[in-house]
Amino acid sequence: MIRLQSVVKSYSIGKEQVDVLKGIDLHIKEGEFTAIMGPSGSGKSTLMNIVGCLDRPSSGDYYLNDHLVSQYDEKELAQVRNRSIGFVFQQFQLLPRLNALKNVELPMIYAGVKKKEREERASEALHKVGLSDRMGHLPNELSGGQKQRVAIARAIVNNPDLILADEPTGALDSKTSVQIMELFTMLNQEGTTIILVTHESEVAEYARRTVFVRDGMVMQNETTVKGGESL
Ligand code: ATP
Ligand code: MG
Repeated sequence: MIRLQSVVKSYSIGKEQVDVLKGIDLHIKEGEFTAIMGPSGSGKSTLMNIVGCLDRPSSGDYYLNDHLVSQYDEKELAQVRNRSIGFVFQQFQLLPRLNALKNVELPMIYAGVKKKEREERASEALHKVGLSDRMGHLPNELSGGQKQRVAIARAIVNNPDLILADEPTGALDSKTSVQIMELFTMLNQEGTTIILVTHESEVAEYARRTVFVRDGMVMQNETTVKGGESL
């Protein structure tokens, strides 16, 4: 489903060019649940931005569902993001003036879905994440865990093939993190491919596989079962 070949990402800072990703090779199959770990500044978010079609590699190839998306233009990338990928962030990224239902409707507005269907699908998604009774609440009337559930409902509402979550539990306490990880586990069991970045090994243990990134390279690529045992 995801195949990165020799992916390099460089930034120019003044006259200097810095390679943030230094030749990443990564293959992720459909239905996998992968955690990405690594030190701060190692390039995890940069990698997620490329996988999420928010950014393009400086060189190297990225195939998503056998399409060479690293050669797509902005418009084509936006289409892929809208159709195929759901995003979840550490700081939730909800729009503060819109209630939970409206926040979840947003990706469907971009996809041109009609109002009635939008409302139906948004309320279904909120039901799935256990928030049927909070649809009219504004983000600041919700707890951190509830805000992240709204963000997850928004990420799944267009039925994406892939969910990308960059530190989704980073702003949550450990009990709430467990609930959020159980939700991701359920979505994965239903067939959604999930990639998440985390600093916490307890969180990474929910994934079937952990990829370690260090200084812009993939260092270690492990398949694990819950409990941390290597297969
Ligand atoms: P963290 O765990 O702190 O979130 P990370 O592994 O996600 O770190 P990245 O955000 O991918 O790290 O950043 C990797 C490196 O790339 C950092 O040194 C950062 O300064 C640099 N970098 C990221 N984005 C840019 C940019 N737009 N321009 C220049 N340098 C950048
Ligand atoms: Mg990051």
